[in-house]
Order: sequence, then C-alpha cells, then structure tokens
Amino acid sequence: MKNLKNALLLKQLYLLKQLGYNYTSLSVFKEDDSFIELPNNLDKLKKQAEDCHLCQLSKSRSRVVFGSGNPNADIMFVGEAPSATEDSTGKAFDGRSGEMLTKMVENVLKIPRKEIYVTNIVKCKPANNSKPNATQAHTCQSFLQKEIELIKPKIIVALGEIAYHYLSGDDTELVKVRGTIHKNDKYTLITTYHPSHLLRNPSDKQLVLEDLKKIKELL
Ligand code: URA
Repeated sequence: MKNLKNALLLKQLYLLKQLGYNYTSLSVFKEDDSFIELPNNLDKLKKQAEDCHLCQLSKSRSRVVFGSGNPNADIMFVGEAPSATEDSTGKAFDGRSGEMLTKMVENVLKIPRKEIYVTNIVKCKPANNSKPNATQAHTCQSFLQKEIELIKPKIIVALGEIAYHYLSGDDTELVKVRGTIHKNDKYTLITTYHPSHLLRNPSDKQLVLEDLKKIKELL
C-alpha cells in the first residue's frame, strides 16, 4: 500500500510541476488514505487495475492483464509480466507460455487449469519484451498483494527468478532456490523455472517435474 501511496503522491507532484508550481507543502496531502484503499472484491480490484496509469507501462499497453482463474484457488501461479499475446487478449498466460503452464498443471499436478489462479508481478506488458523494472514492480505490488489477500492461496508458485525476487525480496539466483520451500504465516512460497524458459530449454523439464512433485505433496 505504501508503494501505491508514494506513486500517487509522485503523480500529484508531477501534475503540480506541469502546472507551474516550483514548491509545495506536503501537508496539503492530508493523511487520508481512503482514496487509495484497494477494494476487497476481486472484480472491483480488476476494474481499478484497468484504470491504473501510475507507471510508464500504462502508456504502451493495449490491455491491462489482471489475474484470472478460480477466486478460491488453493494454488496461485505468479509470472513476470504479460507478453504480446496477453497484451492483445487481456488474459494472463494465454500464449505459448500459457500452453506450457497448462500442461505442467494438468499433466503433472492433475488439476484442471480453471481450478488454479494465475497472475503476474506487473499487469501491463513491458516494452520490447524487457523485464519489469523495480519501480514498475513496486508500483504494481499493491494489486498483487490484494489479489493474494482476497484469494488466500495455500501455495504460491513463483514462475521464474523475477517473480521469486519480487515475491520474496530475496535476489538469490533461481538455480539455487528453485524447489525450496518458504513458509510464512499466510502461504507457502515455492519457485520453479518459468514456462518460457522450458520452451527455450526443454532439457530442464526434468527439474521442473521434480519441483512440481514437491508442490503436489504440499497440496
Ligand atoms: N505471459 C504471462 O502472462 N506472464 C508471463 O510471465 C509470461 C507470459
């Protein structure tokens, strides 16, 4: 919530600068957080994300790609950012990576894709297929945190290093942390390779299979 508050404050300051103000007092921004409270309802949260213009990604996106799937899911998969396919369809993991994810979930975990919840660290496609930067990830974090709060998954699977990094705050390389189990008082976090990594490196499928077996045991 602090990130969202700071981003909103920064936006207001930029606006004032554009209007010609050189100085302002922060006391004009009263300690009233009600306008930045995120809704406790997934549909309303999605609507709020769709109206978001707090970072650069909002300028180049075609669609906001909010999470999708079962709102009561026990397991949530978190990827990095929408790619071109998702930017045009508006649905998370809808392209080739999504097909790979569906195979991982349905063939190994034996769970229908519609039973899981899938989302991303940032909800808008970064330009030129780049990775979301820290400002973009932190600005969008409040939406992800609210999704987690509302869905209450027992297990969160971070898909790839970027997702793991922003979910855990730990920047250890993925090769060292994949398959390790991190419990907190709300959920268990585990990370594995991103499906797009498997498309480029099919020989790592065996490692992902090992991680998925651990996830299956946790479930
Ligand atoms: N599509 C997504 O929705 N997320 C990714 O991380 C990659 C592709």
